[in-house]
Amino acid sequence: MTERWTVLKILKWTTNYFTEREIASARLEAELLLAATLDLDRVGLYVNFERPLDTAELAAFHARVRRRALREPVQYILGETEFWSLPFTVSPAVLVPRADTEVLVEEALARIEGSSRILDVGTGSGAIAIALAHEKPEVCVTALDCSESALEVARSNAQRNGVAERVTCLAGDLATLPPGPFEMVVSNPPYIPSRDWAELMPEVRDYEPRLALDGGDDGLQAYRQLTAQAGQVLTPGGWLLVEVGIDQAADVRALFETVGLSEVSQRDDYAGIPRVVVGRKNLNHVGHEENKP
Ligand code: GLN
Repeated sequence: MTERWTVLKILKWTTNYFTEREIASARLEAELLLAATLDLDRVGLYVNFERPLDTAELAAFHARVRRRALREPVQYILGETEFWSLPFTVSPAVLVPRADTEVLVEEALARIEGSSRILDVGTGSGAIAIALAHEKPEVCVTALDCSESALEVARSNAQRNGVAERVTCLAGDLATLPPGPFEMVVSNPPYIPSRDWAELMPEVRDYEPRLALDGGDDGLQAYRQLTAQAGQVLTPGGWLLVEVGIDQAADVRALFETVGLSEVSQRDDYAGIPRVVVGRKNLNHVGHEENKP
């Protein structure tokens, strides 16, 4: 006789299985995978604890549990996640949007005036670009990425969140920024030092796109390129906001200051880690052209 599995019983079993494998948030992830398999939400599980699973459901759930046990991020298994309380499709072509990045969105929103033109460099899933466009109906965002497969994900997310008309997904990288001008440039660039690669969590190291994570030897390569060019694409008084990794805020602030950005500041994430560096192009900035005799 085959064993009878109910929602509650299989949740307990899976939570235990994940815990033994040192998977964080074991119960939550078990619930997310089971809810997706049964086409319920998590509350739906709680009111159906005694519901039995049939053979097909069990097989589908086990396939997902096996993937998670191999350290595939739960968001890739589900094919989606939430960022800024909005739904985002994710695939291994894009970094999974992190809650930490929401503080960059908050800092950007506090500085957007009227119908700003915004550039998001390395948009990935489009998380930052789409959150800003969703929150501020007057802004237009150019969402840049060098990966065509990431741009496809970003485009589908812009569509899904009803902002496709104001979010233009464009192929390009740090060496080829569109001329703008933009009132704001935002970026969550790759910033993990290459030398730290081997120590990353397997979820990140083995599944997320290295292109979106590896910031070169010291992790600061993208910030050097971005700060070197930001002045050319920002309007006078325009803002540059970047996400930074652990211990990088001071170095990135110094880069901002070196290129003459003013009002340089930083913001912690909700874990108390400096996470965002902000700077502003001088209002009375005189461009190279006007400088000529
Ligand atoms: N926050 C990500 C991580 O630690 C890194 C994101 C990035 O490099 N931009 O996994």
